[in-house]
Amino acid sequence: MRSVIPDYLDEVLADVRADVSGETAGYIPELAAADPHRLAAVFATVDGEVYGSGDVDVELTIQSISKPFTYALALADRGVDPVLAKVGVEPSGEAFNQISLERGTGRPLNPMINAGAITTHALAGPEHLDAAERVERVLAGLSAFAGRRLRVDEVVHASEMTHAHRNLAIAHMLRSHGIITEDPVDVVDGYTRQCSVLVTARDLAMMAATLANRGVNPLTNEQVVDHAVVRQVLSVMATCGMYDAAGDWATHVGIPAKSGVAGGLIGALPGQLGIATFSPRLDVHGNSVRGVSLFERFTSDMGLHVMEVPPTTRAVVRCAKVRGVGDDATWVLRLQGGIRFAGAERVVREVLETAPVEPRVVLDVSLVHSIDDVARRMLLEVARRLTLDGHEVYLVDPEAIIPEPDPGDGGRLTVVDELEQVVGSRHGAAEHRGASTSARNA
Ligand code: GLN
Repeated sequence: MRSVIPDYLDEVLADVRADVSGETAGYIPELAAADPHRLAAVFATVDGEVYGSGDVDVELTIQSISKPFTYALALADRGVDPVLAKVGVEPSGEAFNQISLERGTGRPLNPMINAGAITTHALAGPEHLDAAERVERVLAGLSAFAGRRLRVDEVVHASEMTHAHRNLAIAHMLRSHGIITEDPVDVVDGYTRQCSVLVTARDLAMMAATLANRGVNPLTNEQVVDHAVVRQVLSVMATCGMYDAAGDWATHVGIPAKSGVAGGLIGALPGQLGIATFSPRLDVHGNSVRGVSLFERFTSDMGLHVMEVPPTTRAVVRCAKVRGVGDDATWVLRLQGGIRFAGAERVVREVLETAPVEPRVVLDVSLVHSIDDVARRMLLEVARRLTLDGHEVYLVDPEAIIPEPDPGDGGRLTVVDELEQVVGSRHGAAEHRGASTSARNA
């Protein structure tokens, strides 16, 4: 059987191909001369599968799609607060090259507009790097996101520099406000090199998938930046990634995204996939016309809007039943899926409503594939309170989805690999792990 996904991508590309509206970026001569017919779409899943259609391996310059990644590098290298002191996180509702800085502080409003991105470029890497070292830090970082060594298109860089008056003006303003302390010409030169990094739609999808995968590149498995940095970056992409079309995009498409004037467009869907499209003709906002259409199709065909998530809470309790009778009775609560706050709340409620009277209670998490910190703490607290109510509490957790399960303070939890160890004949062999004993490998 052929996978259904490439066929779907072929079909969607065919649907948008006829749209020749928009113009290639006129203000960078090399981009104005780009082949406007190019068209590609790529999906990269968080576990490293790549599906593509069209010109997936044709190189284009990354342009503004470099901005969220360089922002991630700056956050990782300098820390969130020092970066926030120099670049805000408020949507500007203005064009990408607007010469606008926050009143009073002189801070650029966000890292997705040029003023913010020029500042962010200067914040990548440790302080006191020279201009060339900073470019190398950015290039190495972008390469880590892509999972292969990338290079700069010197021709596009030179072409953009001959017309970089607006970005130079922005950099001089930033310098006058003390937002950047380096030579403004050096910073714009470095930023323009960053924008001139050559990528393919396949690379872009992989970079987006790294964001979707909490900062871990799905192919190389490298943790490029940590997940707190990714959360910050995706939030800013969601609110500012599409410039003055950001609100429209957030409601219509609902995927944290970033566009570039060479015609690239990426979207990162946390936990699911990275998407990239390539089509050089741009709309008035500087976003790829057919790229925007493709993303609109993807969202409506596949329900990719981030605000639209299935109700996971009901499904968390797979079943609750009593096994055995009398002194041998055990109340078994079988959980499943991914458990976060709302799922854990559902479990708490189930325990309260049932108010089990059986001497033993089993929380079976063998079908749970993920549990976050708050849910883990809530389940352990449930175990502790059940102990205090006089129950013997067991956790069926063969894959140690709850590592070191210590309910603390009077709580007592016995970890077993399978339910039969508690309700079957072998239950006597179960090993007790109270607050003071270490878990699993004890
Ligand atoms: N290098 C381009 C610029 O600074 C990037 C703009 C973009 O892709 N939106 O103008």
